[in-house]
Amino acid sequence: MITAKGLSRQTPRWSAAFADAIRDPDELWQRLNLDPTLLPAAQAAAARFPLRAPRGFVARMRMGDPDDPLLRQILPLADELASTPGFVADPLNEQAAQVVPGVLHKYAGRALLIVTGACAVHCRYCFRREFPYMQHQAGMDAWRPALAYLAGDASIREVILSGGDPLALSDRRLGGLLAALELIPHLQRLRIHSRIPVVLPERIDAGLLDVLSQTRLQRVVVIHANHPQEINEEVNVALNQLAGIGATLLNQTVLLRGVNDAPDTLATLSETLFAARVLPYYLHLLDPVCGAAHFEVKEPVALAIMNKLRQRLPGYLMPRLVREQSGQMAKTPVETCR
Ligand SMILES: *Cc1c(COP(=O)(O)O)cnc(C)c1O
Ligand code: SF4
Repeated sequence: MITAKGLSRQTPRWSAAFADAIRDPDELWQRLNLDPTLLPAAQAAAARFPLRAPRGFVARMRMGDPDDPLLRQILPLADELASTPGFVADPLNEQAAQVVPGVLHKYAGRALLIVTGACAVHCRYCFRREFPYMQHQAGMDAWRPALAYLAGDASIREVILSGGDPLALSDRRLGGLLAALELIPHLQRLRIHSRIPVVLPERIDAGLLDVLSQTRLQRVVVIHANHPQEINEEVNVALNQLAGIGATLLNQTVLLRGVNDAPDTLATLSETLFAARVLPYYLHLLDPVCGAAHFEVKEPVALAIMNKLRQRLPGYLMPRLVREQSGQMAKTPVETCR
């Protein structure tokens, strides 16, 4: 027992699983027994935005089914190579919202820190697929301007760790960052936006729970799940453990054609997440990033889905349908009556 613990401190199980993600389309095709005629286009699309999927996530996909809702989210397709009017590289104009390197301060009271460019999974619809990831180095030296910015603005009460995926940081790095944030007296809340509890639940280990338990800041973890099939037993346990240390758990979903654009799917997602102590937060309309147009669900269709969903779910299990528009003071609600 002691030996096993000592070993796992040197190389945590999660970091091996993180590094061991499937990155070669050929391997994914073999693993899931997919149609070989789709492979050349996948390779072309993956050359523009690399394939990346943890093995544990791929294990939740059905064999031989190109329409599997989990597979769709990571599957490089010929569709990505087409250019669609209105779909651009930086749809949210995030470059302009950077107040200092690595800080997006668009909304009152909260600032978003891009603490790493790394993700455990590459989601094909991601608005950061075209974002210059490499500029965002992780580590105290890289974060110093961001920390100085937060310290200098007393109106900021909440810091949002984002990326990339902030839980891709080691416990040591994350712990160091939290220790520095805690010294900023006006900060009250720490929010972590992460897809890792869903795609790499191994990450929610004793070391991480320890780091997150120690901070004086109130903790909110916003996970990102799009389909109920993502929530297997291991994810369920990981989420319960996060809730167990007193973190408030919320979920954001992106409304994706061919993945979750059905009221039944979204209703099951809300109920499955609530069973794991997670409340729905946002249902995002797709950000129009180039290469993702095939995922778009148009606004009237989205509103019809929301109306059906409302007939199925208690109010507290209803996500808020929003779109992000650059230059706005908050995410923009998408509502029927306007
Ligand atoms: C989405 C976002 C936030 C958080 O907005 P909430 O409505 O509080 O969830 C903060 N900053 C930026 C730059 C964002 O894009
Ligand atoms: S995990 Fe989040 S930031 Fe990373 S590719 Fe997926 S949606 Fe984008």
